[in-house]
Amino acid sequence: MTFQDLNLNQHIIKAVEDKPYKTPTKVQEKAIPAILSGNDLLGCAHTGSGKTAAFALPILQSLSKLPVILEGPKLIRSLILAPTRELAIQIGESFEAYGKYLDIKIGVVYGGITPKQHIKVLKREPSILIATPGRLLDLIGKGYADLSKVEIFVLDEADKMLDVKTLQDIKTIISKLPNVRQNILFSATMPEDVMKIVHSILKNPVEIDDKSTSPMGANIKQQVYFVEEPEKTSLLLFLLENKSYESVLVFTRTKKRADKACKAINIQNIRAKAIHGDKNQSERLKALELFKNKEIKVLVATDVAARGIDISNISYVINMNIPNVPETFIHRIGRTGRAGISGMAISFCSTEEKNFLKKIEELQGKSIEVINNTIPVK
Ligand code: AMP
Repeated sequence: MTFQDLNLNQHIIKAVEDKPYKTPTKVQEKAIPAILSGNDLLGCAHTGSGKTAAFALPILQSLSKLPVILEGPKLIRSLILAPTRELAIQIGESFEAYGKYLDIKIGVVYGGITPKQHIKVLKREPSILIATPGRLLDLIGKGYADLSKVEIFVLDEADKMLDVKTLQDIKTIISKLPNVRQNILFSATMPEDVMKIVHSILKNPVEIDDKSTSPMGANIKQQVYFVEEPEKTSLLLFLLENKSYESVLVFTRTKKRADKACKAINIQNIRAKAIHGDKNQSERLKALELFKNKEIKVLVATDVAARGIDISNISYVINMNIPNVPETFIHRIGRTGRAGISGMAISFCSTEEKNFLKKIEELQGKSIEVINNTIPVK
């Protein structure tokens, strides 16, 4: 199948042709026709499967067909909610790229920078708004964002968005949307407790469950080292120094641990930066930029970076801890092995974490190769 077979207009096809890829991914093949025909959609697909384009292309197509209102303020017609600022920015960039030959305004709003800038964004009257929930609620509260004309609503990383911490915010935002609208939910994982809420939002959705290309598939090699907490930093440094690792994303459970690991790596003269919730927005963006441009070799992150961040050619993900939520592990390792390229995920597991590892193996339906730790620990 080609993108031409998907009934997209020539402006969108032209923008896609500027990209290096020529054929739609499985998720795109299934999602694009479903969205174009106006159905609600529930997509269980991991990041790296091309899911942003799977909703961005048909949304651009649908909005470009809508009649242009010549008088009065132009209101938001599609709202995309994402859990993190970085992901919101990235989705915004995708919309800009795929919509560059269309006359559709796109706005992105997220926390961490002054609201003034976002008020400007909204005053430009975007038809498509990509937002993180907290900042959007602020702007709604101050009367800058009107969601009463939203026709297509997208929740990206839906499982994250519908967890207890953000559920109320999402419900409030949904209450501002018109009752008649198209809903699109995408998530890499779909825990059972979230499914109930998902089905209260969606109406007769087309369901796509793309397990065939999930990160549990063949293109991410997984290994685990059994190593106790105090020895984990030494093992990390050993691997970074002794293997020809390029573009390594290291995950830690806490911000403190991320800073500590980053410092230890820098001392070995390996260029690394840390990103987590205590870093301000410009530091986080700068670190991501340096990592994307291969100016630093290692990025150490807490799970704030696990959601959807698309950095091509991350060759290794190293988990300094085993997450207690198995789905978090899937998100983390999904940062490598993206868009069909193979990757490697290495995890450090202490005795206390063995139960978490078991849960992850159960979720994946396979055990992870154990590497015997014969490394001289300093
Ligand atoms: P996503 O799953 O949206 O995070 O996308 C992951 C990566 O896949 C991004 O770098 C996209 O540019 C890329 N991508 C999107 N569509 C395709 C496609 N049809 N073929 C290959 N790569 C794609």
